Amino acid sequence: MRVLISGAGVAGLTTAYWLKHYGFTPTIVERAPTLLTGGYKIDVRGSALQVLHRMGIHDTVVTASTDMQGALLVDKKGKIICKMSGDAFGHRVGDDVEIVRGNLCQILKDQIPNVEFIFNDSIQEISQFSEKVQVKFQKHHTREFDLVIGADGLHSNVRRLVFGDEAQFAHELGLHLCVFSVPNYLKLDRMEMQYSELGRVASIWSSRGDSTAKACFGFTASSDKINLRDKDQQQQVVRKTYEGIDWEVPRLLQMMPGASDFYFDAAAQIHMDRWSRGRVVLLGDAAYCASPMSGQGTSLALIGAYVLAGELAAASGEKYQAAFNAYEEQLLPFVRRNQVLGVSAAKLMKSQGKNNLLIRLLMLLMRITPGRLIKFFINLSTRRIHQAANAITLKEY
Ligand SMILES: Cc1cc2nc3c(=O)[nH]c(=O)nc-3n(C[C@H](O)[C@H](O)[C@H](O)COP(=O)(O)OP(=O)(O)OC[C@H]3O[C@@H](n4cnc5c(N)ncnc54)[C@H](O)[C@@H]3O)c2cc1C
Repeated sequence: MRVLISGAGVAGLTTAYWLKHYGFTPTIVERAPTLLTGGYKIDVRGSALQVLHRMGIHDTVVTASTDMQGALLVDKKGKIICKMSGDAFGHRVGDDVEIVRGNLCQILKDQIPNVEFIFNDSIQEISQFSEKVQVKFQKHHTREFDLVIGADGLHSNVRRLVFGDEAQFAHELGLHLCVFSVPNYLKLDRMEMQYSELGRVASIWSSRGDSTAKACFGFTASSDKINLRDKDQQQQVVRKTYEGIDWEVPRLLQMMPGASDFYFDAAAQIHMDRWSRGRVVLLGDAAYCASPMSGQGTSLALIGAYVLAGELAAASGEKYQAAFNAYEEQLLPFVRRNQVLGVSAAKLMKSQGKNNLLIRLLMLLMRITPGRLIKFFINLSTRRIHQAANAITLKEY
C-alpha cells in the first residue's frame, strides 16, 4: 500500500519507520530542502520511551541526549537564587530523556534508509476517490497514493486542504515563544540559566555537542497584536516585553537581529472531533498539538505514530477506516489528558497582573523566596506530567 506522509518531523519519520516495518510503501514529502536538524530540546517521557525501545533506538537516543547537568535560576539582576539538577528542572523522572529535536529526527531518519523522500516540496491539492488519493505537488508531478498522512505540524498544510481553515481548530494559549542561537559567550557546559516571573521567562542554555547556545523567551501577549509573518515586528515586541530586566537579557536581545536562526510562534493547541476524512488522516501536532507548554508534544507524536501504523497493519491497510477509528479511540483520552498540562501551565503564566488573593500571595512569595517557589511549582508539575505521560498502555501489533 502506498502511503504519502506530509512532514519529516518526529511524527512523520516514526510513522514511516513503522509502516515500512509492516510492509507498506511510505513516501515522505517535506517542505524544507533537507531534514530540519538543530533546534530546541525536547523530552521523551513515560510510555513514549517504549516506542524508542520497540524501534531499537533507545540507547542511541540516550547517547545523543542533551546531558544537561543543571540549571541556575537567577533574579532580575542576575543573582543566582536557586540551583537544580538538569533532570529536576526539565521535569524528568526515571528514564525520561531530553534530546535536541533535530538530533532525534536524524536518528529516526537513519532508521529508514529505503524510504523515498521528496524534499523542498509541498502538497498543493488532494483529490480523494473510492480507490485512491490523487496528490498534486507544488513542484513535482501529480501522483497517486492509497492513503495520505498529515504530519506537518501545528500549521498543517494537509489539515487546511482537507479539513479547512486552521482557525476552526487552533486554541491559542495567550503565550508566545521565541528561540534563536547565540554564541556561547557564557561558556555554558550543558547548563541552563533562567530568569522567570509570571508572564515572562528568559533563558539561555547550551547542550552536549553544541558549539552555540540558545536564547529562549516565553511571554504572555495577545495574538492580535503580533503578526506571525513579520519578523521585525516580532523582535520589537520581544524587546518591549523584556524592558526592565537586566541579567543577560539586554545582551541577548542585542544579538537577536543577527541570529542565524529565529523561531517565533504563538503557543496553541489543536482540538478536532475527528482526525481522519476518507483516506486522509492527521497525526502529531497537526491533529492534536498540546503546545510546548505541555512538554509532551514529542511523546504524543511518537505514540500517535506507533498506534496509527500499528492499527493500519492490524487492519491490513484495506480496512483503513477501521484503523483510523481505532487510532482515534485509543489516543484521544491520552491526548486530552496531556493537553490539560499545556492549558494549566499557560494559565499560571497568564495569572500575572490578576488581582485575586492567591495571585497576590504568589507574587509576595515570589519576592520573598523565589527559588523555593519556583522549585515547588516545578516539582508539582513534574508529578502531573509523569502521570499524564504514562496514561496509555501500548498494544503489541
Ligand atoms: C520552543 C519549543 C519547545 C518545545 N519543547 C518541547 C518539549 O520540551 N517537549 C516536547 O515533548 N515537545 C516540545 N515541543 C514540541 C515538539 O517539538 C512538537 O510537539 C513535536 O515535535 C511534534 O512533532 P510533529 O512531527 O507532529 O511536528 P513538527 O515537529 O512540527 O514537524 C512537522 C514537519 O512538517 C514539515 N512541514 C510543515 N509544513 C509542511 C508542508 N506544507 N509540506 C511538507 N512538510 C511540511 C515541517 O518542516 C516539519 O519538518 C516544543 C516545541 C517548541 C516550538
